[in-house]
Amino acid sequence: MSLYDNIRRVTPYVPGEQPAGKVIKLNTNECPYAPSPRVSEAIAACDAGRLRLYPEPDCHTLKEAIAAHYAVKPDEVFVGVGSDDVLALAFLTFFAGQKPVLFPDITYSFYDVWAKLYAIPYETVPLAADFTLRPEDYARENGGVIFANPNAPTGLALPLSGVEEILAKNPESVVIVDEAYVDFGAETALPLLKKYENLVVVRTMSKSRALAGMRIGYAFAAKRLIRAMEDVNSYTMTTLSLAAGKAAIEDEDYFQQTLGKIIKTREETKASLQKLGFSVTESKTNFLFARNPDIPAQTLFETLRKRGIYVRYFKKPRIDEHLRITIGTDEDMKQLLEELRRLSKR
Ligand code: PMP
Repeated sequence: MSLYDNIRRVTPYVPGEQPAGKVIKLNTNECPYAPSPRVSEAIAACDAGRLRLYPEPDCHTLKEAIAAHYAVKPDEVFVGVGSDDVLALAFLTFFAGQKPVLFPDITYSFYDVWAKLYAIPYETVPLAADFTLRPEDYARENGGVIFANPNAPTGLALPLSGVEEILAKNPESVVIVDEAYVDFGAETALPLLKKYENLVVVRTMSKSRALAGMRIGYAFAAKRLIRAMEDVNSYTMTTLSLAAGKAAIEDEDYFQQTLGKIIKTREETKASLQKLGFSVTESKTNFLFARNPDIPAQTLFETLRKRGIYVRYFKKPRIDEHLRITIGTDEDMKQLLEELRRLSKR
């Protein structure tokens, strides 16, 4: 026996690189635009003297703003330090049984890290060959279900009827729908909250609200489930993040403008990639999942990287011929496409 035999170790989740200097960064699904100007105002209005005090323990400022925006009650809202924190706590709280938790074989690669860390039994469910999720595959015994909708890195969305089918077939399991990217064009499961007490919807301000650096995630569920998460939580949100999150959620015009720009750029980039011979999935997110029939994805990834353009490549079964490309500004995408055009001609 050694000290290290008592330490739980997992293969870590590896986030995309955060290179220093001037690069075109299309590898971590951040927003290419600044957050709402109201966020800067809210931060500027924070008196540093107040930071000697602990923040609000119940995060009511932010919960009330989120609840008002989505027309739910504040006690149906949970907030945490990015949706990674919210998801980690949700795994710990809701996946406490002996039966395996189910999630797709291709999805956000943090799910199996948390399952392993918390010693939660799990099974991965293969997506169909075209990467779509088949709700009927989740109609079997399980200790919980989690899936991202839209999914990452495929970008594909499951229609609301599919989400409902999974909820209806699993009345005894908590079903977590990770809606990190839902604002970019997928259907949210929020209208199902009233009907299904087993539903937990997880959201983030990192993507559509341009606040990845602030670390703000949130969740919606029936009061009883939120209570169960609250019971193990304390002082997670800083005074600054509570103020910034409230400002971001309240600026609907700016939010809609940003989404509109990103969706337009996504569709234009998709069409250009297709012209270059790429096959591209029907993304409802702020990234594209694309494959070139002639050039290996790893070669594209490495060559682009040398030119200062960072995209994401996953050396994993089934997806190692694809690139995940975050939607940047129009200028970012122009430069990416120029490089790809040059590479395709070789
Ligand atoms: N869920 C999915 C599907 C994601 O892609 C990400 C981003 N890495 C997250 C959750 C976590 O985002 P954050 O912690 O920034 O809210």
